[in-house]
Amino acid sequence: MPNPPSPLAGSGAPPDLIVRGKRVITPEGERAAAIHIRGGAIVAITAFDEIPRDVPLHEAGDSVVMPGIVDTHVHINEPGRTDWEGFSTATRAAAAGGVTTLIEMPLNSIPATTTAAAYREKLAAAAGKLSVDTGFWGGVVPGNAAELKPLWDAGAFGFKCFLVPSGVDEFAHVAESDLRAALPQLAARGAPLLAHAELPGPIDDAIAKLPKGASPKRYATWLAARPHEAEDEAIALLIRLAREFKARVHIVHLVSSHSLGLLRQAKAEGLAVTVETCPHYLSFAAEDIADGATEFKCAPPIRSRDNREKLWAALGDGAIDFIATDHSPCPPALKLPDEGDFLRAWGGIASLELSLPAVWTQARSRGYPVSRLAEWLCAGPARLAGLHGRKGSISVGCDADLVIWNPDATFRVDAARLHHRHKVTPYAGRELAGMVETTFLRGRKIFERGEFPCPPAGRVLRRGAE
Ligand SMILES: [Zn+2]
Repeated sequence: MPNPPSPLAGSGAPPDLIVRGKRVITPEGERAAAIHIRGGAIVAITAFDEIPRDVPLHEAGDSVVMPGIVDTHVHINEPGRTDWEGFSTATRAAAAGGVTTLIEMPLNSIPATTTAAAYREKLAAAAGKLSVDTGFWGGVVPGNAAELKPLWDAGAFGFKCFLVPSGVDEFAHVAESDLRAALPQLAARGAPLLAHAELPGPIDDAIAKLPKGASPKRYATWLAARPHEAEDEAIALLIRLAREFKARVHIVHLVSSHSLGLLRQAKAEGLAVTVETCPHYLSFAAEDIADGATEFKCAPPIRSRDNREKLWAALGDGAIDFIATDHSPCPPALKLPDEGDFLRAWGGIASLELSLPAVWTQARSRGYPVSRLAEWLCAGPARLAGLHGRKGSISVGCDADLVIWNPDATFRVDAARLHHRHKVTPYAGRELAGMVETTFLRGRKIFERGEFPCPPAGRVLRRGAE
């Protein structure tokens, strides 16, 4: 049978590499296809059999070929808290998990990325250590309004803030007055504000009302100390500010389903409000968390099973735009494993390497196809960072960032084999579906079946740079 006319005809040099498979996920859906790669970019996508001779070929067979995952919510903590995590360990974990792009949060490093000078320290600390492409968010903290333009001009992709204490002294939380100073600057540049949406008032009230003698080892105590009203009131405030300043506002790690109505309204109104949730909120339920199991502690907290199902429905109908990990590890001792004290333990969940199988395990049990996963883990987060057109999509002109994975293979999480610096994770021992086989970064194989075949090949991503 003759081949159809080749879109490669007249395009000059042959590709350096072709990756082909029966299940390639493009923006149009899933199909058998051949991805032609030259100079690190996708130069053509053709029918499965339509490939030139004598070009290196990677056969994905029946495994899924998806865009490399874009994780826009990662805490790497270097410099300053490199004993918590670091660029080398975090980005190797990313490569092993099929994550090819990550955007790092402006805390918990020292200094926090709230000045252009601190941004330069980040770049210096990252040099030579990146296994995947990595960009940086700046931060909005009280008093740094004059630093926002320099940070943006230097290459930060947007700005993170906290409306409650962040847990570290270098990154103070903002009041509404601070946001009123920052938002005109952000809106003028089209820069997104990423907000940890909880307000202190409802949390203080809830803590004051905890019964005397409430055990801090009980998960129910942590849940009572962190009521959904804190999240709901913060989100209402952020929506009002987005409307008033015509600003882009992104709600990180949404968990309260009580806010979904307001978020749907804000989107229907046309406000530039976007929302992420996290694999742990989609995987776990408060009812199942054992007393003292502080590896499950994060803020806002993992809520009920019913709440979790409402988050899934919101992903399904688009009220939640995408999924990011909020990978936020710490030395195991800070999780207070002996005391099991939920109120004093560090809040944060390590999951960078596991986002794909964690989300897929839950998604497939609810009947979602792999193509939705590509939207939630790849295209959606790329849009937040303004990287669509380059990352998060198997499209001509995009970087050849690919993850090849077997959706039917299951495995039990052996925490000791994860590549994060510390192995504490609530996924330990769980059976997950979806095995990452091979990861390509700009056409280069950076991970294959447990091995890292090349030295760190990641680059620093700067907003606006090629
Ligand atoms: Zn975070």
